[in-house]
Amino acid sequence: MTDILDTRPDTTAVTRSPLDDARSQLADAIKVLGYDQGMYDLLAAPRRELTVSIPLRRDDGRVEIITGHRVQHNYSRGPAKGGLRYSPHVDLDEVRALAMWMTWKCALLDVPYGGAKGGVVIDPRDYSQAELERVTRRYTSEIMPLIGPAHDIPAPDIGTDEQTMAWMMDTYSVNTGHTVLGVVTGKPISLGGSLGRASSTSRGVVHVALEALTHLGIAHDGATAAVQGFGKVGRGTARFLAEAGVRVEAVADQYGAIRAPGGIELAALETYVDETGTVVGFDGASPIDAGDLLELAVDLLVPAAVEGVLHAGNAERVRARLVVEGANGPTTSEADDILAARGVTVVPDILANAGGVIVSYFEWVQANQAYWWTEDEVEARLADRMIGAWRYVLDHAKTHQLTLRAAATSLAVQRVAEAHRQRGLYP
Ligand code: NAD
Repeated sequence: MTDILDTRPDTTAVTRSPLDDARSQLADAIKVLGYDQGMYDLLAAPRRELTVSIPLRRDDGRVEIITGHRVQHNYSRGPAKGGLRYSPHVDLDEVRALAMWMTWKCALLDVPYGGAKGGVVIDPRDYSQAELERVTRRYTSEIMPLIGPAHDIPAPDIGTDEQTMAWMMDTYSVNTGHTVLGVVTGKPISLGGSLGRASSTSRGVVHVALEALTHLGIAHDGATAAVQGFGKVGRGTARFLAEAGVRVEAVADQYGAIRAPGGIELAALETYVDETGTVVGFDGASPIDAGDLLELAVDLLVPAAVEGVLHAGNAERVRARLVVEGANGPTTSEADDILAARGVTVVPDILANAGGVIVSYFEWVQANQAYWWTEDEVEARLADRMIGAWRYVLDHAKTHQLTLRAAATSLAVQRVAEAHRQRGLYP
């Protein structure tokens, strides 16, 4: 049996995975809640995992074997839910961590889902659209026993998009014999997607970031920000922050970072990125070192790319007063401790980027009822849920003298544990 104390990360360890961080956070929550080792063990282990080999016929006729995973961390509160990531860096432990965070996110926001995640070890930039379609369809058919609108509902994540979801929905439907719109979310609007889904994660990040700035006594107008990642989450976050009066001084993607101290002209940057595929070379800003972006003297830092970018090696140098986690797992447990000790407020991923799963839930509800809401309805309900969750977590943190992460994780773990307690153990 694992000793809970041993699940705190070893700060001397050279290699640590997002799963170490996820388990540390769970261990902290279990301690806050006063639960026993059995509850930790129950919640630390995924309920189901499936690893598949995907034979891909390349356009030139060669056959290549690609690995894919689907992990269902927990489904005590409802069907499992979570994104599908295409990245050469995907491994099973990363998918396990991301699935666990999805369980907490859904519980915290009180959407009736458990947590899951999928990953395919592929760099989508190296494959044609036709090859990506074949990989997606074969992966979908390999994980068919696990997914379905009442079982497990994938959505886009790094390297996947609404086209990927359309292929998944079609493959599942063809094999089922009828069209099943509720099997994935993040679909194109023409195939039962929800208005407001594409921007929902970024909108949610910005709702919470603005609340947190207000909480810290920082006026929105003229506040400064840096955003790491300029994809589905980072790009909209930068745009909506600027619309709220925040000066976005620096942005980064996987190719590099740029900075304009007076604020980046975001509409022009978006046009440039559409044309070139990267923020690098934009002439309205100067290039900076990618690592330096995380250490700029701005009010708000939004890591919206990958895990583990704020770590023991740079957390002492973070000068932002507020970190809002657009990405999942961008702050390691050591960095979390350092930032907390230095008085930097960190709004955790399971709260900050929950807008995506909230509108995914709305999309699933709409698809299952075949009745669609207006964009205004979606936006208003998203804002209500995000701001409500922010207040819920902040109150709990203040009352119990916890960091926002410890408050959010313990509230979520409590909800999942309560579902387990009420359902009982079978047999
Ligand atoms: P995406 O593939 O659309 O974009 C990722 C962006 O990050 C790209 O701009 C890429 O160039 C950049 N990037 C990758 N590695 C980087 C690095 N080392 N340094 C700087 N930039 C880097 O993915 P996304 O959907 O925007 O997801 C980003 C993060 O947000 C992930 O952690 C994901 O799990 C999380 N998230 C996404 C959603 C969603 O709805 N898409 C919801 C919740 C959380």
